[in-house]
Amino acid sequence: MLRTHNNGELRLSNVGQTVTLCGWVQRTRDKGGMIWVDLRDRFGITQLMLEEGQSSKEALATTRSLGREFVVSATGTVVERLSKNDKIPTGDVEVKIDTITILNPAKLPPFLIEDITDGGDDLRMKYRYLDLRRNPVRENLILRHKMAQQVRSYLDSQNFIEVETPVLIKSTPEGARDFVVPSRMNPGEFYALPQSPQTFKQLLMVSGFDRYFQIVKCFRDEDLRADRQPEFTQIDCEMSFVEQEDVLQLFEGLIRHLFKTIKGIDLPELTRMTYAHAMKYYGSDKPDIRFGMQFVELKSEEVDLTSGKGFPVFDGASTVVGINAKGCADYTRKQVDELTEFVKRPQIGAKGLVYLRCMADGSLKSSIDKFYSPEDLKTWAEAFGAEPGDLMLILCGEGDKARKQLNDLRLEMGNRLGLRDPEKFAAHWVIDFPLFEYGEEDDRWFAMHHPFTSPKPEDIQFLESGDFGKIRANAYDMVINGVEIGGGSIRIFQKDLQAKMFEALGFSDEEAKHQFGFLMDAFEYGAPPHGGLAFGFDRICSLFGGSDSIRDFIAFPKNNSGRDVMIDAPSSIDAKQMDELKIKTVL
Ligand code: ASP
Repeated sequence: MLRTHNNGELRLSNVGQTVTLCGWVQRTRDKGGMIWVDLRDRFGITQLMLEEGQSSKEALATTRSLGREFVVSATGTVVERLSKNDKIPTGDVEVKIDTITILNPAKLPPFLIEDITDGGDDLRMKYRYLDLRRNPVRENLILRHKMAQQVRSYLDSQNFIEVETPVLIKSTPEGARDFVVPSRMNPGEFYALPQSPQTFKQLLMVSGFDRYFQIVKCFRDEDLRADRQPEFTQIDCEMSFVEQEDVLQLFEGLIRHLFKTIKGIDLPELTRMTYAHAMKYYGSDKPDIRFGMQFVELKSEEVDLTSGKGFPVFDGASTVVGINAKGCADYTRKQVDELTEFVKRPQIGAKGLVYLRCMADGSLKSSIDKFYSPEDLKTWAEAFGAEPGDLMLILCGEGDKARKQLNDLRLEMGNRLGLRDPEKFAAHWVIDFPLFEYGEEDDRWFAMHHPFTSPKPEDIQFLESGDFGKIRANAYDMVINGVEIGGGSIRIFQKDLQAKMFEALGFSDEEAKHQFGFLMDAFEYGAPPHGGLAFGFDRICSLFGGSDSIRDFIAFPKNNSGRDVMIDAPSSIDAKQMDELKIKTVL
């Protein structure tokens, strides 16, 4: 070893010892008579000290020539510090240097390697290896490492076996867009990178592995957002001879194990909510239940407190729905206008926002009180359970579309009112997802989860009758703080039912055979009932780390255009490679 200790371990008990440390120069302070150097490595910072008249001329000269981020080795004696630094674990001591050697000089880094840096996103991505030297970024990756260790430990204790599945697989039409890889040995043919190991893990169940998991890279060629990356990591799991309840229990156990071991938090038992309930009361299939503010319907299939009073906007809408922002009745005109602008943004797309204030004296004021009598407003206020000081915010439109808009407003109000504390965790399952969703553009039904998800037995009749919208699936998502961190389903394991499912999705027999023949064949050789799920590992890490961005928890992430700006990928390949692959460029 080039060193006797790392930079995070010296304490008062080491005083008097001769030590050799290595690391990067964080900063030097030269006060003439004394020079101090903060020496950094992954483990921490230790202060080196040299004194005019006591340290050798050579050591003083070398130290004076050091720049930021030089890599050095230094030998000296551990001494107690006169002025201690209680902010760092090594702050009681410093090392009085006898010899110091530059192992490698460094160019001035393009941004400060400090917790708070002056480097913008692009620059830090280009020099990611320097960004990774910064404490906050490194700590994120250490957190990720610990999480992966705990995932393995828990699943191993539950008899799961980690199996690697292939990365060069077959392109399939369902789901997101595939990344494809041309095959040199089979010109004109392509592999696809897996969007998930779904079919392989099901085949492992047919093989009798019983319990499988894998911490695995998956690839989806989708447009990117802050919480998406073209390649990302899943904790992928599958179990045999189980029902939905077993899967929910076991993976609730995993998440609670992670909270306990990583954060020291005893997560309460996860509550459950049906998809239908989530949509009706939160306008989202992943409600943030750290706070209430559930939707109240003034007009829907079940109630109508708004029609026939001459307000054409509400009369023309099938749904009028709102939230009660408690204690916000004193919002100024400007604040309400801001909220109106917020819901009118194209990403949300509401036409306008109606409010109802319940004043301190209990009287009601609304932006549309010229249409509605005080009695009308009173019935609304009662529906909202309004108390003096409350502000009701109301949107209208068509069914789930209006509800989804109100979901955005609910979350915005949650933010404004400080109800979404990242250090508070509310975890729950959303269950009973629909099996299918209708794609207006393509005018056909799509599998809401994926085509291998089994319908609830009692709803299979609707598969026969063609009532696809009514079929519920044995599918579930785990949601924490409004983030979908995992999801899965009980699978179809009978060939006939799987064939019916493909038919419902518009596959011809030949197409189904061509795409998924291997799975249907396997189902004929003794497939056990099975089910499972996958967690978004990057997302869980960012949630545990208190950040919205999964990028901060990936060592070498891609930017918003799917580029790795450090290695400059994707990039063109040379003509010889193109020839070998029999690919012609047509631009
Ligand atoms: N393969 C699914 C996904 O990636 C998860 C599952 O059903 O297990 O979403």
